[in-house]
Amino acid sequence: MPAYAVLGAQWGDEGKGKIIDFLARDADIVARFSGGNNAGHTVINSGEKFSLHLLPCGIFWPQTLNVIGNGVVADPDVLIKEIDHLQSRGIDLTGRFMLSERTHLVMPYHIRLDQLMEDARGTGALGTTRRGIGPAYSDKAARTGILAADLLDVDEIFQRLEAILAYQNAVITKVLGGPAISLKRTFDKCRKWAEKLGEFIGPVDTVVRESLDEGGTVLLEGAQGALLDLDHGSYPYVTSSNPTIGGACVGLGIHPRYMGGILGVFKAYSTRVGAGPFPTELLDDTGETIRDLAKEFGTTTGRPRRVGWFDAVAARYSARLNGYTSVVLTKLDILDHFDTVKICTAYELDGEVVSEFPASDTALDRCKPIYEEHPGWDKPTPSITRRDDLPKEALSYMDRLQELIGSSVDIISTGPERHETVMARSVFSP
Ligand code: GDP
Repeated sequence: MPAYAVLGAQWGDEGKGKIIDFLARDADIVARFSGGNNAGHTVINSGEKFSLHLLPCGIFWPQTLNVIGNGVVADPDVLIKEIDHLQSRGIDLTGRFMLSERTHLVMPYHIRLDQLMEDARGTGALGTTRRGIGPAYSDKAARTGILAADLLDVDEIFQRLEAILAYQNAVITKVLGGPAISLKRTFDKCRKWAEKLGEFIGPVDTVVRESLDEGGTVLLEGAQGALLDLDHGSYPYVTSSNPTIGGACVGLGIHPRYMGGILGVFKAYSTRVGAGPFPTELLDDTGETIRDLAKEFGTTTGRPRRVGWFDAVAARYSARLNGYTSVVLTKLDILDHFDTVKICTAYELDGEVVSEFPASDTALDRCKPIYEEHPGWDKPTPSITRRDDLPKEALSYMDRLQELIGSSVDIISTGPERHETVMARSVFSP
């Protein structure tokens, strides 16, 4: 079978982790392709809760190989901690995890730069996770990054680090007024990383392509969401990589002809973390209620997520960017508690009705949502696993969403646990 991409279709945190874990039962490889440990995926199976920031969410299925592709930037300290944590909970990674030789490393100076730069922005802060992700991608583009492959020849790194730190420390101390990063300590870290991670570093792109050529099923694990895409999101309030379908190909070294399906994961409402325009944001009691019911607090930062109604203008835009073959709708159960639910079908922008997602963040910020209102449902949906058992109002809400998005809702998630899932139609090609 071919590759299936599972992409965040909104502003991130859509529940991709749960869905990837659910689908990974049928996968040979689960492959992360973008972002870093600014992502946080929650997987709950058999009552046990796991938060993953770098390791792919297929790791709980013993038949899967889990890989981190070249499009990811990986903080080795976080990766080692995650590997140790899973192993301490009885999940064996031997022969089941590979880090691409071409993955760029998040270095200690990236983290310091991220923190100092975000502080320096003051009220104009972007709301980054301060984990060094943006500066690591900047260095990748500037061709001054350190690759996982470099750890395999660790003594060669010293001289490069010396030159890199001369520049980065000048920025850290003279421009941003922070404390310098020690060359010795950074190099010592590299040695430690080489020792711990060396056995996992390998040719991910070749392994993924070979599996696909042999008929393997590969899940491409997205991080963040389409509306945070560096090129297509609400710039500058975006992430530093491409969580959209093009990023999946580039971030793993596979071509589009391998693609068997593109799954867009949407929450039944909207959330956004950090700064940036959010037309359907609810700053009232309804927003509070959704946040509390859904425990909308970030997996990575613990920050309260901003909450709003479903935005079909943004959803259509996301669908056109990614060409979803299936919609996955999560957290339907959270909407059980309302007399009516709303969908934003257009914006009012400077007195005009618009149905396109504006490129300018200031224009998006001026957009006022135009809503249609749908009846709520009073039957609880948690744990429902058959489409026909869902309340008819919930079904008609979903029918309207799929009409607006332009792709069918094939998977419905009715709770955080693996089994709380409705598979309305197979998302895998026959
Ligand atoms: P991801 O980064 O897209 O994987 O999303 P997060 O893990 O950051 O956030 C999703 C949260 O919602 C996690 O705590 C999940 O356990 C939880 N979750 C996922 N699907 C559902 C669902 O259908 N209903 C409820 N109530 N919670 C869900």
